[in-house]
Amino acid sequence: MPVFKTLDDLPADLAGKVALVRVDLNLPMSEGRASDLTRVEAVAPTILELADAGAKVLLLAHFGRPQGQRHSTMSVSLVQGDVEKVLGREVMFISEVAGPVVDQSLGIMRPGDIGLLENTRFWPGEEANDSDFVRAIAAHGDLYVNDAFSAAHRAHASTEGLAHLLPAYAGRAMQAELEALDRALGNPEPPVCAVVGGAKVSTKLDVLGHLVGKVQHLVIGGGMANTFLAARGVAIGKSLAEHELAGQAGEIMEAADRADCTVHLPYDVVVSKEFAANPASMRTCHVHDVGADEMILDIGPQATEALADVLKTCRTLVWNGPLGAFETPPFEVATVSLARTAAALTKEGSLVSVAGGGDTVAALAMAGVVEDFTFVSTAGGAFLEWMEGKELPGVAALRR
Ligand code: AMP
Repeated sequence: MPVFKTLDDLPADLAGKVALVRVDLNLPMSEGRASDLTRVEAVAPTILELADAGAKVLLLAHFGRPQGQRHSTMSVSLVQGDVEKVLGREVMFISEVAGPVVDQSLGIMRPGDIGLLENTRFWPGEEANDSDFVRAIAAHGDLYVNDAFSAAHRAHASTEGLAHLLPAYAGRAMQAELEALDRALGNPEPPVCAVVGGAKVSTKLDVLGHLVGKVQHLVIGGGMANTFLAARGVAIGKSLAEHELAGQAGEIMEAADRADCTVHLPYDVVVSKEFAANPASMRTCHVHDVGADEMILDIGPQATEALADVLKTCRTLVWNGPLGAFETPPFEVATVSLARTAAALTKEGSLVSVAGGGDTVAALAMAGVVEDFTFVSTAGGAFLEWMEGKELPGVAALRR
Protein backbone atom coordinates (compact mmCIF):
# COMPACT_ATOMS: atom_id res chain seq x y z
CA MET A 1 0.00 0.00 0.00
CA PRO A 2 1.49 3.36 -0.95
CA VAL A 3 2.06 5.52 2.05
CA PHE A 4 0.22 8.80 2.16
CA LYS A 5 -1.00 11.08 4.90
CA THR A 6 -4.67 11.03 5.82
CA LEU A 7 -6.79 13.29 7.99
CA ASP A 8 -5.58 11.20 10.94
CA ASP A 9 -2.17 12.82 10.47
CA LEU A 10 -3.44 16.42 10.65
CA PRO A 11 -1.96 18.73 13.27
CA ALA A 12 -3.99 18.72 16.49
CA ASP A 13 -4.91 22.38 16.38
CA LEU A 14 -6.59 23.35 13.16
CA ALA A 15 -8.50 26.31 14.58
CA GLY A 16 -8.50 29.07 11.99
CA LYS A 17 -6.14 27.21 9.66
CA VAL A 18 -7.15 27.33 6.00
CA ALA A 19 -7.66 23.92 4.37
CA LEU A 20 -7.75 23.89 0.57
CA VAL A 21 -9.82 20.83 -0.28
CA ARG A 22 -10.05 19.44 -3.83
CA VAL A 23 -13.43 17.79 -4.30
CA ASP A 24 -15.43 16.41 -7.22
CA LEU A 25 -18.49 18.59 -7.77
CA ASN A 26 -18.76 17.84 -11.47
CA LEU A 27 -22.35 16.75 -10.96
CA PRO A 28 -24.51 15.33 -13.73
CA MET A 29 -26.98 18.09 -14.69
CA SER A 30 -30.42 17.89 -16.17
CA GLU A 31 -32.31 21.08 -17.12
CA GLY A 32 -29.93 23.24 -15.11
CA ARG A 33 -30.21 21.16 -11.92
CA ALA A 34 -27.99 18.46 -10.46
CA SER A 35 -29.63 15.10 -11.08
CA ASP A 36 -27.46 13.08 -8.70
CA LEU A 37 -25.71 14.19 -5.50
CA THR A 38 -23.59 11.06 -4.93
CA ARG A 39 -20.38 12.98 -5.50
CA VAL A 40 -21.26 15.59 -2.88
CA GLU A 41 -22.26 12.88 -0.42
CA ALA A 42 -18.89 11.21 -1.01
CA VAL A 43 -16.87 14.27 0.01
CA ALA A 44 -19.15 15.50 2.80
CA PRO A 45 -17.38 13.55 5.60
CA THR A 46 -14.03 15.14 4.76
CA ILE A 47 -15.46 18.67 4.59
CA LEU A 48 -17.37 18.30 7.84
CA GLU A 49 -14.44 16.70 9.66
CA LEU A 50 -12.18 19.62 8.74
CA ALA A 51 -14.82 22.23 9.52
CA ASP A 52 -15.64 20.61 12.86
CA ALA A 53 -11.92 20.67 13.71
CA GLY A 54 -12.09 24.46 13.31
CA ALA A 55 -10.48 24.86 9.91
CA LYS A 56 -11.69 27.40 7.40
CA VAL A 57 -12.47 25.10 4.50
CA LEU A 58 -12.05 26.31 0.93
CA LEU A 59 -13.41 23.90 -1.66
CA LEU A 60 -11.74 23.62 -5.06
CA ALA A 61 -13.51 21.89 -7.92
CA HIS A 62 -13.93 21.91 -11.67
CA PHE A 63 -17.25 21.90 -13.43
CA GLY A 64 -17.56 21.04 -17.10
CA ARG A 65 -14.97 21.99 -19.70
CA PRO A 66 -14.79 25.79 -19.88
CA GLN A 67 -11.31 25.66 -21.49
CA GLY A 68 -9.67 28.37 -19.43
CA GLN A 69 -12.48 30.96 -19.66
CA ARG A 70 -15.34 32.10 -17.49
CA HIS A 71 -18.73 30.74 -18.59
CA SER A 72 -21.74 31.54 -16.43
CA THR A 73 -23.25 28.17 -17.37
CA MET A 74 -20.27 26.41 -15.78
CA SER A 75 -19.94 28.35 -12.55
CA VAL A 76 -19.72 26.09 -9.51
CA SER A 77 -22.19 28.52 -7.90
CA LEU A 78 -24.79 26.42 -9.76
CA VAL A 79 -24.18 23.58 -7.30
CA GLN A 80 -23.70 25.72 -4.18
CA GLY A 81 -27.26 24.94 -3.02
CA ASP A 82 -26.70 21.21 -3.53
CA VAL A 83 -23.52 21.30 -1.45
CA GLU A 84 -25.37 23.21 1.30
CA LYS A 85 -28.21 20.70 1.21
CA VAL A 86 -25.93 17.68 1.59
CA LEU A 87 -23.69 19.27 4.24
CA GLY A 88 -26.56 20.85 6.15
CA ARG A 89 -24.39 23.98 6.49
CA GLU A 90 -24.14 27.35 4.84
CA VAL A 91 -21.49 27.56 2.13
CA MET A 92 -20.09 30.89 0.96
CA PHE A 93 -19.54 31.10 -2.81
CA ILE A 94 -16.31 32.91 -3.72
CA SER A 95 -16.08 34.04 -7.34
CA GLU A 96 -12.28 33.58 -7.66
CA VAL A 97 -9.72 30.92 -6.71
CA ALA A 98 -6.95 33.32 -5.67
CA GLY A 99 -6.22 36.99 -5.00
CA PRO A 100 -7.84 39.76 -2.96
CA VAL A 101 -11.41 38.44 -3.25
CA VAL A 102 -10.31 35.19 -1.61
CA ASP A 103 -8.39 37.14 1.06
CA GLN A 104 -11.45 39.25 1.84
CA SER A 105 -13.66 36.18 2.05
CA LEU A 106 -11.24 34.47 4.42
CA GLY A 107 -11.31 37.66 6.52
CA ILE A 108 -15.07 37.27 6.91
CA MET A 109 -15.05 33.50 7.46
CA ARG A 110 -14.87 32.15 11.01
CA PRO A 111 -13.20 28.89 12.01
CA GLY A 112 -15.43 26.05 10.83
CA ASP A 113 -16.89 28.04 7.93
CA ILE A 114 -16.94 26.61 4.43
CA GLY A 115 -16.23 28.51 1.21
CA LEU A 116 -16.70 27.31 -2.36
CA LEU A 117 -14.15 28.69 -4.80
CA GLU A 118 -15.06 29.23 -8.46
CA ASN A 119 -14.51 26.60 -11.16
CA THR A 120 -10.74 26.02 -11.28
CA ARG A 121 -10.92 25.42 -15.02
CA PHE A 122 -11.99 29.03 -15.66
CA TRP A 123 -8.24 29.72 -15.52
CA PRO A 124 -5.84 28.22 -18.10
CA GLY A 125 -3.28 27.73 -15.31
CA GLU A 126 -5.39 24.91 -13.87
CA GLU A 127 -5.00 22.40 -16.68
CA ALA A 128 -1.50 23.67 -17.51
CA ASN A 129 -0.54 23.11 -13.86
CA ASP A 130 1.11 26.54 -14.15
CA SER A 131 3.46 27.21 -11.26
CA ASP A 132 2.38 30.87 -10.78
CA PHE A 133 -1.25 29.80 -10.68
CA VAL A 134 -0.49 27.03 -8.17
CA ARG A 135 1.48 29.48 -6.00
CA ALA A 136 -1.35 32.03 -6.09
CA ILE A 137 -3.86 29.47 -4.79
CA ALA A 138 -1.45 27.91 -2.30
CA ALA A 139 -0.81 31.37 -0.79
CA HIS A 140 -4.28 31.22 0.81
CA GLY A 141 -3.92 27.80 2.42
CA ASP A 142 -2.13 26.19 5.34
CA LEU A 143 -2.78 22.65 4.11
CA TYR A 144 -4.12 20.78 1.10
CA VAL A 145 -6.52 17.85 1.10
CA ASN A 146 -7.30 15.89 -2.06
CA ASP A 147 -10.62 14.07 -1.89
CA ALA A 148 -11.20 13.76 -5.64
CA PHE A 149 -9.91 10.40 -6.83
CA SER A 150 -11.96 10.83 -10.00
CA ALA A 151 -9.72 13.76 -11.04
CA ALA A 152 -6.45 12.22 -9.82
CA HIS A 153 -5.45 10.98 -13.28
CA ARG A 154 -4.95 14.62 -14.26
CA ALA A 155 -1.83 16.53 -13.25
CA HIS A 156 -3.63 19.83 -12.84
CA ALA A 157 -2.94 22.68 -10.43
CA SER A 158 -5.71 21.74 -8.02
CA THR A 159 -5.23 17.96 -8.32
CA GLU A 160 -1.45 17.73 -8.29
CA GLY A 161 0.41 21.04 -8.18
CA LEU A 162 -0.85 22.13 -4.76
CA ALA A 163 0.40 18.92 -3.14
CA HIS A 164 3.96 20.09 -3.84
CA LEU A 165 3.56 23.44 -2.07
CA LEU A 166 1.47 22.62 1.00
CA PRO A 167 1.34 19.77 3.52
CA ALA A 168 -0.85 17.31 1.59
CA TYR A 169 -3.38 14.77 2.84
CA ALA A 170 -5.79 12.28 1.32
CA GLY A 171 -9.39 13.03 2.27
CA ARG A 172 -11.67 10.30 3.58
CA ALA A 173 -13.21 9.48 0.17
CA MET A 174 -9.77 9.35 -1.48
CA GLN A 175 -8.46 7.21 1.37
CA ALA A 176 -11.36 4.75 1.09
CA GLU A 177 -10.92 4.56 -2.66
CA LEU A 178 -7.16 3.93 -2.47
CA GLU A 179 -7.57 1.32 0.22
CA ALA A 180 -10.26 -0.50 -1.79
CA LEU A 181 -8.25 -0.38 -5.00
CA ASP A 182 -5.24 -1.74 -3.19
CA ARG A 183 -7.29 -4.69 -1.95
CA ALA A 184 -8.54 -5.35 -5.48
CA LEU A 185 -5.38 -5.14 -7.55
CA GLY A 186 -2.48 -3.65 -5.61
CA ASN A 187 -2.28 -6.37 -3.03
CA PRO A 188 -5.25 -8.69 -3.61
CA GLU A 189 -6.04 -12.05 -2.15
CA PRO A 190 -5.90 -14.61 -5.01
CA PRO A 191 -7.51 -16.04 -7.02
CA VAL A 192 -8.46 -12.74 -8.63
CA CYS A 193 -11.11 -12.44 -11.32
CA ALA A 194 -11.32 -9.37 -13.54
CA VAL A 195 -14.46 -8.71 -15.54
CA VAL A 196 -13.93 -6.31 -18.41
CA GLY A 197 -16.90 -5.50 -20.57
CA GLY A 198 -18.25 -2.56 -22.48
CA ALA A 199 -18.38 -1.47 -26.05
CA LYS A 200 -14.87 -1.29 -27.40
CA VAL A 201 -11.58 -3.12 -26.99
CA SER A 202 -9.72 -0.06 -28.27
CA THR A 203 -10.50 1.92 -25.11
CA LYS A 204 -9.40 -0.92 -22.84
CA LEU A 205 -6.39 -2.49 -24.56
CA ASP A 206 -4.03 -1.22 -21.87
CA VAL A 207 -6.37 -2.47 -19.16
CA LEU A 208 -6.43 -5.98 -20.64
CA GLY A 209 -2.68 -5.97 -21.21
CA HIS A 210 -2.06 -5.07 -17.57
CA LEU A 211 -4.64 -7.45 -16.13
CA VAL A 212 -3.39 -10.63 -17.80
CA GLY A 213 -0.24 -10.38 -15.70
CA LYS A 214 -2.16 -9.68 -12.50
CA VAL A 215 -5.25 -11.89 -12.37
CA GLN A 216 -5.97 -15.59 -12.62
CA HIS A 217 -9.29 -15.18 -14.48
CA LEU A 218 -10.06 -12.57 -17.12
CA VAL A 219 -13.70 -12.40 -18.19
CA ILE A 220 -14.20 -10.51 -21.42
CA GLY A 221 -17.79 -9.49 -22.07
CA GLY A 222 -19.88 -6.95 -23.95
CA GLY A 223 -18.98 -5.74 -27.40
CA MET A 224 -15.33 -6.42 -26.53
CA ALA A 225 -15.96 -10.16 -26.43
CA ASN A 226 -17.12 -9.97 -30.06
CA THR A 227 -13.73 -8.67 -31.17
CA PHE A 228 -12.01 -11.54 -29.33
CA LEU A 229 -14.43 -14.13 -30.74
CA ALA A 230 -13.86 -12.77 -34.25
CA ALA A 231 -10.09 -12.92 -33.67
CA ARG A 232 -10.56 -16.61 -32.89
CA GLY A 233 -12.29 -17.10 -36.21
CA VAL A 234 -15.88 -17.16 -34.91
CA ALA A 235 -18.44 -15.66 -37.32
CA ILE A 236 -20.19 -12.94 -35.31
CA GLY A 237 -22.59 -11.59 -37.94
CA LYS A 238 -23.46 -7.89 -37.56
CA SER A 239 -22.19 -7.68 -33.98
CA LEU A 240 -20.38 -4.58 -32.81
CA ALA A 241 -16.66 -5.42 -33.13
CA GLU A 242 -13.31 -3.95 -34.05
CA HIS A 243 -12.03 -6.44 -36.58
CA GLU A 244 -8.87 -4.40 -37.13
CA LEU A 245 -7.84 -5.24 -33.56
CA ALA A 246 -7.78 -9.00 -34.16
CA GLY A 247 -3.98 -9.05 -33.95
CA GLN A 248 -3.90 -7.24 -30.62
CA ALA A 249 -6.70 -9.42 -29.25
CA GLY A 250 -4.62 -12.47 -30.23
CA GLU A 251 -1.55 -11.04 -28.48
CA ILE A 252 -3.55 -10.48 -25.30
CA MET A 253 -4.77 -14.09 -25.36
CA GLU A 254 -1.19 -15.33 -25.87
CA ALA A 255 0.10 -13.14 -23.03
CA ALA A 256 -2.67 -14.55 -20.83
CA ASP A 257 -1.61 -18.11 -21.70
CA ARG A 258 1.99 -17.34 -20.78
CA ALA A 259 0.90 -15.79 -17.47
CA ASP A 260 -1.45 -18.67 -16.57
CA CYS A 261 -4.43 -16.36 -16.74
CA THR A 262 -7.61 -18.03 -18.02
CA VAL A 263 -9.51 -15.87 -20.51
CA HIS A 264 -13.25 -16.47 -20.39
CA LEU A 265 -15.24 -15.76 -23.54
CA PRO A 266 -18.93 -16.66 -23.81
CA TYR A 267 -19.95 -19.89 -25.50
CA ASP A 268 -23.61 -19.00 -25.66
CA VAL A 269 -24.97 -15.59 -26.52
CA VAL A 270 -28.21 -13.64 -26.91
CA VAL A 271 -28.61 -12.38 -30.47
CA SER A 272 -31.10 -10.32 -32.42
CA LYS A 273 -31.53 -9.04 -35.97
CA GLU A 274 -32.36 -5.54 -34.74
CA PHE A 275 -31.14 -3.52 -31.81
CA ALA A 276 -34.34 -2.68 -29.97
CA ALA A 277 -36.05 -3.46 -26.68
CA ASN A 278 -37.46 -7.00 -26.56
CA PRO A 279 -37.02 -7.57 -30.30
CA ALA A 280 -39.10 -10.28 -31.92
CA SER A 281 -36.02 -11.80 -33.57
CA MET A 282 -34.19 -12.30 -30.28
CA ARG A 283 -32.90 -15.79 -29.49
CA THR A 284 -30.17 -17.51 -27.50
CA CYS A 285 -27.63 -19.62 -29.38
CA HIS A 286 -24.16 -21.08 -29.31
CA VAL A 287 -21.45 -18.59 -30.41
CA HIS A 288 -20.83 -20.74 -33.49
CA ASP A 289 -24.47 -20.38 -34.59
CA VAL A 290 -24.75 -16.61 -34.92
CA GLY A 291 -26.42 -15.76 -38.25
CA ALA A 292 -24.88 -13.32 -40.73
CA ASP A 293 -27.82 -10.94 -40.12
CA GLU A 294 -27.70 -11.18 -36.31
CA MET A 295 -25.82 -9.28 -33.64
CA ILE A 296 -24.68 -10.43 -30.20
CA LEU A 297 -26.20 -8.20 -27.53
CA ASP A 298 -25.59 -10.16 -24.34
CA ILE A 299 -23.85 -13.30 -23.14
CA GLY A 300 -26.09 -16.33 -22.71
CA PRO A 301 -27.41 -18.14 -19.62
CA GLN A 302 -24.88 -21.00 -19.75
CA ALA A 303 -21.96 -18.59 -19.97
CA THR A 304 -23.44 -16.55 -17.12
CA GLU A 305 -23.73 -19.65 -14.95
CA ALA A 306 -20.17 -20.68 -15.80
CA LEU A 307 -18.94 -17.24 -14.76
CA ALA A 308 -20.86 -17.48 -11.49
CA ASP A 309 -19.00 -20.76 -10.85
CA VAL A 310 -15.69 -19.02 -11.56
CA LEU A 311 -16.55 -16.26 -9.10
CA LYS A 312 -17.31 -18.85 -6.44
CA THR A 313 -13.70 -20.04 -6.66
CA CYS A 314 -12.26 -16.51 -6.42
CA ARG A 315 -11.45 -14.30 -3.45
CA THR A 316 -11.22 -10.99 -5.30
CA LEU A 317 -13.20 -9.41 -8.14
CA VAL A 318 -12.48 -6.25 -10.05
CA TRP A 319 -15.09 -5.22 -12.60
CA ASN A 320 -15.35 -2.58 -15.29
CA GLY A 321 -17.89 -2.61 -18.10
CA PRO A 322 -21.22 -4.37 -18.68
CA LEU A 323 -21.48 -7.85 -20.22
CA GLY A 324 -24.19 -6.78 -22.65
CA ALA A 325 -26.08 -3.80 -24.04
CA PHE A 326 -27.63 -3.43 -20.59
CA GLU A 327 -29.53 -0.19 -21.20
CA THR A 328 -31.90 -1.99 -23.57
CA PRO A 329 -34.06 -4.77 -22.09
CA PRO A 330 -33.55 -7.66 -21.80
CA PHE A 331 -29.83 -7.37 -22.61
CA GLU A 332 -29.06 -6.50 -18.99
CA VAL A 333 -29.86 -10.04 -17.84
CA ALA A 334 -26.32 -11.48 -17.72
CA THR A 335 -24.80 -8.35 -16.16
CA VAL A 336 -27.52 -8.15 -13.51
CA SER A 337 -27.25 -11.87 -12.76
CA LEU A 338 -23.46 -11.87 -12.38
CA ALA A 339 -23.63 -8.67 -10.30
CA ARG A 340 -26.09 -10.36 -7.94
CA THR A 341 -23.85 -13.42 -7.65
CA ALA A 342 -20.88 -11.19 -6.81
CA ALA A 343 -22.97 -9.27 -4.28
CA ALA A 344 -24.14 -12.48 -2.59
CA LEU A 345 -20.58 -13.84 -2.39
CA THR A 346 -19.43 -10.53 -0.95
CA LYS A 347 -22.16 -10.60 1.67
CA GLU A 348 -21.15 -14.15 2.60
CA GLY A 349 -17.61 -12.88 3.11
CA SER A 350 -15.95 -15.02 0.46
CA LEU A 351 -15.28 -12.26 -2.09
CA VAL A 352 -13.81 -8.77 -2.09
CA SER A 353 -15.66 -7.02 -4.93
CA VAL A 354 -14.55 -3.72 -6.41
CA ALA A 355 -16.23 -2.18 -9.44
CA GLY A 356 -15.92 1.15 -11.18
CA GLY A 357 -16.87 3.31 -14.15
CA GLY A 358 -20.06 5.16 -15.06
CA ASP A 359 -21.81 2.38 -17.01
CA THR A 360 -20.77 -0.25 -14.48
CA VAL A 361 -22.21 1.75 -11.60
CA ALA A 362 -25.45 2.22 -13.58
CA ALA A 363 -25.62 -1.55 -14.23
CA LEU A 364 -24.96 -2.39 -10.57
CA ALA A 365 -27.63 0.11 -9.57
CA MET A 366 -30.03 -1.64 -11.96
CA ALA A 367 -29.19 -4.91 -10.20
CA GLY A 368 -29.76 -3.21 -6.84
CA VAL A 369 -26.37 -4.26 -5.49
CA VAL A 370 -24.28 -1.06 -5.24
CA GLU A 371 -24.41 -1.21 -1.45
CA ASP A 372 -23.47 -4.90 -1.36
CA PHE A 373 -20.19 -4.63 -3.24
CA THR A 374 -17.09 -4.07 -1.15
CA PHE A 375 -16.44 -0.83 -3.03
CA VAL A 376 -17.97 0.88 -6.04
CA SER A 377 -16.00 3.70 -7.61
CA THR A 378 -17.84 6.39 -9.52
CA ALA A 379 -14.59 7.55 -11.10
CA GLY A 380 -14.48 6.80 -14.83
CA GLY A 381 -11.15 7.76 -16.40
CA ALA A 382 -9.20 7.54 -13.15
CA PHE A 383 -10.57 4.05 -12.41
CA LEU A 384 -9.59 2.83 -15.88
CA GLU A 385 -6.09 4.30 -15.63
CA TRP A 386 -5.68 2.60 -12.29
CA MET A 387 -6.81 -0.69 -13.89
CA GLU A 388 -4.14 -0.07 -16.53
CA GLY A 389 -1.58 -0.09 -13.73
CA LYS A 390 -0.71 3.56 -14.27
CA GLU A 391 0.45 5.81 -11.49
CA LEU A 392 -2.13 8.57 -11.08
CA PRO A 393 -0.34 11.92 -10.68
CA GLY A 394 -2.80 13.20 -8.07
CA VAL A 395 -2.16 10.11 -5.95
CA ALA A 396 1.60 10.07 -6.51
CA ALA A 397 1.82 13.69 -5.33
CA LEU A 398 0.16 12.74 -2.04
CA ARG A 399 2.72 10.07 -1.42
CA ARG A 400 5.64 12.36 -0.68
P1 AMP B 1 -17.97 1.14 -22.04
O1 AMP B 1 -18.27 2.61 -21.92
O2 AMP B 1 -16.81 0.83 -22.92
O3 AMP B 1 -17.89 0.46 -20.69
O4 AMP B 1 -19.19 0.50 -22.83
C1 AMP B 1 -20.46 0.42 -22.27
C2 AMP B 1 -21.43 0.25 -23.39
O5 AMP B 1 -21.20 -0.97 -24.04
C3 AMP B 1 -22.86 0.22 -22.90
O6 AMP B 1 -23.53 1.33 -23.44
C4 AMP B 1 -23.40 -1.09 -23.48
O7 AMP B 1 -24.69 -0.93 -24.02
C5 AMP B 1 -22.43 -1.39 -24.59
N1 AMP B 1 -22.41 -2.82 -24.93
C6 AMP B 1 -22.12 -3.84 -24.13
N2 AMP B 1 -22.24 -5.01 -24.79
C7 AMP B 1 -22.62 -4.72 -26.05
C8 AMP B 1 -22.89 -5.50 -27.21
N3 AMP B 1 -22.80 -6.85 -27.20
N4 AMP B 1 -23.24 -4.86 -28.34
C9 AMP B 1 -23.34 -3.51 -28.34
N5 AMP B 1 -23.09 -2.72 -27.28
C10 AMP B 1 -22.73 -3.32 -26.14
